[in-house]
Amino acid sequence: TVDNVLDLEKVAVLGHGHGGTVYKVRHKHSANVYALKVLRFDEGEMKIQQEAAVREAEILKRVDSSFIVKCYGVFDNEVLDTDNGGDLCFVMEYMESGSLLDILNICHTLPEKVISVVGRRVLEGLHYLHGMQIVHRDIKPSNLLINSKGEIKIADFGVSIVAKTNEEHEWCVGTCAYMSPERFDSERWNGGDCDGFAGDIWSVGVVLLECFVGRYPLIDPGQKLDWATLMCNICFAEKMVLPDKASPEFRNFVWRCLEKDWRARGTVEELLDHPFVTTCCSASVEGLLGNASETSTQKSEPSLAKWPD
Ligand code: ADP
Ligand code: MG
Repeated sequence: TVDNVLDLEKVAVLGHGHGGTVYKVRHKHSANVYALKVLRFDEGEMKIQQEAAVREAEILKRVDSSFIVKCYGVFDNEVLDTDNGGDLCFVMEYMESGSLLDILNICHTLPEKVISVVGRRVLEGLHYLHGMQIVHRDIKPSNLLINSKGEIKIADFGVSIVAKTNEEHEWCVGTCAYMSPERFDSERWNGGDCDGFAGDIWSVGVVLLECFVGRYPLIDPGQKLDWATLMCNICFAEKMVLPDKASPEFRNFVWRCLEKDWRARGTVEELLDHPFVTTCCSASVEGLLGNASETSTQKSEPSLAKWPD
């Protein structure tokens, strides 16, 4: 265990996000390696950021599942590095193979066999979270992490919420590109007309489809990537036609996730029973990791994280 964050020494930077920086760190005494997420609070938005960080910490402390990246400790007001003093940090399980986004940067597309394993694991994770009334709200490739055993796990509870509490939350947070139609509709969301769980299922559909077609699937290659086009496509576009090579099981699975009406969308229980994910043979994406070479061309997620004013 890690009792003191000062016993950790930085080895590398693993990622930057909106909230702060994630480092690969080594424990000086045990030589164990962890990931350390350091959240920083800026002057102007201090209060909102602190509230979000506390919510993330509360959720991380509650969850304990092999489908979720483990958190070994939350440290408050500790200073790991005086240049960028962290205000809150999380010591987490180190996921050696990075994120699904990293994998897609290298492999571009994944075979259905691998996609079904990814789908199964993410659904198991969501089943656990939803059972605890936690809505993740930011399921996307960069928040799905993979360890050296090829196990994929859900990470980043930066915008997650606990459902059915009276707390008010912003409805349009997360990454717009992976957001469900109902989340663009503030009236419906604020009116309590949806519980938010179905939004996570939508995101799973987008992610798996992206793995299959090798690009963000809800914008056509020729279309301009702006928020209006994106919102129109998400909310109103006809059911996407999948390439012929897609199996009927995959096709049906994706359609059950991408049902525009959240009431009609597949639930996590229904989808865990779907033939696309019940027939997958192994619990890891190992084979895929072998293929991943260093010759990646960088692609990033559609960057429309911020709702326009
Ligand atoms: P943010 O809220 O800033 O998006 P994340 O928790 O998603 O923060 O972390 C940002 C990135 O850092 C991830 O996309 C991933 O590449 C890397 N990362 C985060 N946690 C880990 C971890 N436990 N092991 C390895 N890499 C990680
Ligand atoms: Mg993230």
